[in-house]
Amino acid sequence: MDTKNNIIEKINKLFSVDINKNPEKIFDVLVRIIPFNKAEIYMSEKLLYSKTYSKTNSSNRLKSNLMVKNASFGEIILYRDTKFSTNERKIFILCTSIISNLIKDIELSKIISMQLKALQEGILESDKAYKTEKNKNDFFANFSHELRTPLNSIISSSELLAEEIFGKLNAKQAEYISDIRIAGIHLLGMINDILDMSKIEVQSMKLNKTYFNVDTAFNEVCNIVKPIAQKKKIEIIKHNCNFEIYADYQKIQQILFNLLSNAIKYTPSGGKIELSAHTENNIATISVKDNGIGIDKKYHKKIFNKFVQINSAKDSNGLGLTITKELVKLHGGKIVVISEPQKGSEFIFTIR
Ligand code: ADP
Repeated sequence: MDTKNNIIEKINKLFSVDINKNPEKIFDVLVRIIPFNKAEIYMSEKLLYSKTYSKTNSSNRLKSNLMVKNASFGEIILYRDTKFSTNERKIFILCTSIISNLIKDIELSKIISMQLKALQEGILESDKAYKTEKNKNDFFANFSHELRTPLNSIISSSELLAEEIFGKLNAKQAEYISDIRIAGIHLLGMINDILDMSKIEVQSMKLNKTYFNVDTAFNEVCNIVKPIAQKKKIEIIKHNCNFEIYADYQKIQQILFNLLSNAIKYTPSGGKIELSAHTENNIATISVKDNGIGIDKKYHKKIFNKFVQINSAKDSNGLGLTITKELVKLHGGKIVVISEPQKGSEFIFTIR
């Protein structure tokens, strides 16, 4: 078996895989940590990536779920002719959690990078403000990279220790190691956000319009958010939206993603979200309605302003609705909210 340092070094290589450019690299790194013949990564039951290193009779499998916020969104399976050991299983679970984040990041990165671009545009309104922001971003880009490397090492070392691969821990040791790990992951999340922000390229936003079916856009976004809704036992009901619009597909998806994830965030467990759309005189009207906590009338305008949060929830930054409004405006449309406290909220936007 590899020494502890050796394994950590190999596991750390996973963090530097650029899935967008070279997804197969995940397997190349993984096969050095846990030898296998063939591997597959599934998302929403669809085969996303696979790689075969040598012929296998597939008799032994090692399977682990890809998770975001404790909700499974896919799985990764390794195949080998010989049995996998208990330690390999434990290490595999740790690797899967890193791979989950890498994959989740690209799934959401399209959406997030657009959010950031829109944010940057807001910043561009004032040249002076923009320059200050750019200097700040350059600084963060360098600084956060320096922070990420040792942090990754702290996290993977604490995870390996917690798995007790290198010996049993007593209760106090286990508790402290868990604290180190949780704090490390939290810090890494914050640093990643800062790094993403600082990577924004200065670009003006243009629409790339095509004809597409609203139903298809709804379905894709629903697939991304479904695991989080399911975890809160929130039902998403989609009414008939089977018609074509001429708009920017990615930006419409981003609008839907923002509204749907807010609806999930601000609706208690067991709630209901309804999506509906119709078209008239070449204007499409799309609605995302929830039966959640609702919003007092006095905030209906304010919530579309940058960084405004009424009930700040976990994973929120007060930018979602600002960006959503900008994207709707880019399409020549309008967005309004109909809401009352405790009675739910309906966000309705138009696309021309
Ligand atoms: P955040 O990241 O805080 O969710 P947003 O710009 O998306 O930022 O939303 C601004 C505020 O509007 C939120 O903090 C929340 O108070 C309120 N809000 C947005 N969507 C909903 C909703 N569906 N139900 C209740 N409140 C909402």
